[in-house]
Amino acid sequence: MPTTSSPPVDQAERFFIGGQWVAPTGTESIDVVDASSGRNIGTVAGARPDDIDAAVAAARRAFDHSDWPTLAPVERAAKMRSLARELRTRSDDTARLVSSQNGMPITISSATEAVVPAVLLDYYAGLITDRPDEEMRAGITNARTMIRREPVGVVAAIIPWNFPQTLTFFKLAPLLAAGCTVVIKPSPETVLDAQVLADAVRASDIPDGVVNIVPGGAEAGAYLVGHPGIDKVAFTGSTAAGRAIGEVCGRLIRPVTLELGGKSASVILDDADLPALLGQFFEATLMNNGQTCYLGTRVLAPSHRYGEIVDTLTDFARALVVGDALDSATQIGPLASARQQQRVQGYIDKGVAEGGRVTTGGGRPAELEQGWFVAPTIFADVDNSHTIAREEIFGPVLAVIPYRDIDEAVQIANDSEFGLGGSVWTADEQRGLEVARCIRTGSIGINHYSLDFGAPFGGIKASGLGRELGPEGLAAYQSTKTIYLPPAG
Ligand code: NAD
Repeated sequence: MPTTSSPPVDQAERFFIGGQWVAPTGTESIDVVDASSGRNIGTVAGARPDDIDAAVAAARRAFDHSDWPTLAPVERAAKMRSLARELRTRSDDTARLVSSQNGMPITISSATEAVVPAVLLDYYAGLITDRPDEEMRAGITNARTMIRREPVGVVAAIIPWNFPQTLTFFKLAPLLAAGCTVVIKPSPETVLDAQVLADAVRASDIPDGVVNIVPGGAEAGAYLVGHPGIDKVAFTGSTAAGRAIGEVCGRLIRPVTLELGGKSASVILDDADLPALLGQFFEATLMNNGQTCYLGTRVLAPSHRYGEIVDTLTDFARALVVGDALDSATQIGPLASARQQQRVQGYIDKGVAEGGRVTTGGGRPAELEQGWFVAPTIFADVDNSHTIAREEIFGPVLAVIPYRDIDEAVQIANDSEFGLGGSVWTADEQRGLEVARCIRTGSIGINHYSLDFGAPFGGIKASGLGRELGPEGLAAYQSTKTIYLPPAG
């Protein structure tokens, strides 16, 4: 069993299928680029339909012809914990590779990408050993009815690049717990960390074929989503791709979970002590260089405190350390790709053209000539109708919007195509709770925004369908079967 963490170079040119490193059927390749320097740091194989067919066939075999789906929960949990142990021995490599590829500051990847996968495996392993898969109900029209929870089958898991390992495990940990098997398609921007995951699976007690990994782009993802061997699709990514996937799954009547984009509101109430809360505010609005789906990038400020709040945020953003993602002093790293940098710059230009006023940032920091950097940017004088208040930017850009009273703040917060996250900032928790109850969103925080892995996470409106995390995240990989038992003799 391997004890080191980096995948050997030749494995990077292979797919992880049926517990083995398998040579690609074609010559498609994916160049991996270091976001801080723009340098190429590797090349991996990209999946073609034949490769995906092989991965689905392996997952199908493991589901249909092995004892994995019917193992006693305690045995499945033990195998999941063995994977958690293997991942912990590779956590430094995972953090480093994620940061290098997508620009996530190393302090964040060390606290999330390196840690969360094992935490989720242990959490869901505990959940299945604590809860029986079958329960008896005294029914309404039948005296004895059994409800069974069964695994949904072979899952297609499509992963974005922004938190590649954490978001893989929002799916992988509960689906393993449920007894499903999976074909994972990582995003082309972040494939090296997926190789580390494959290496860990191979070294663990997870049986061959239960987890298969085939990197590729949108075409490979679309092929996998519509594959006849797939029973359920779990997707995290953009709303545009989510709509396309939802359409296919609708036609196939295939269960699907969609975790999509957001444009959440951070509502600052008139009693909030913002300077005292800036650490939490950073996490809720700019975490991971703004490349986090739930961030509250529409900052709603009471009109009579508007100037003061813009000044506080401007000074704060100006003081953030922007630099190489692998430097532990860095608070804002580069964006994940040249395409992403251009997209964010396009939104900044549009924000100015529509009447917004940049108070700090607005483009590439002068001292950082290489890599996909955009300086933290604060926009004042933004109206909720402006493009930068309506569309997801996915970069370090905040739009500060004034409101007259709480009713108007709630109305602006709810005036969005999206409904994923959000936050309320106040000296009075009860007032915060009252506002939080009125905002139409899948989750919301008071004076911070931090996911609780034991609680459901997901969106409403264009932010998605279904929930991940918590017991609800396990239910997403189970189908219920009802067995009508005869009346007791
Ligand atoms: P993306 O939608 O372009 O790609 C996501 C993944 O889907 C990639 O693996 C990609 O190859 C694949 N893909 C793209 N089109 C596809 C299609 N038609 N069929 C099948 N697969 C397809 O998104 P991205 O740029 O990688 O990620 C950023 C987006 O993800 C942002 O909009 C962000 O808000 C969203 N996101 C949402 C959450 C959440 O939990 N709600 C979490 C992280 C990111």
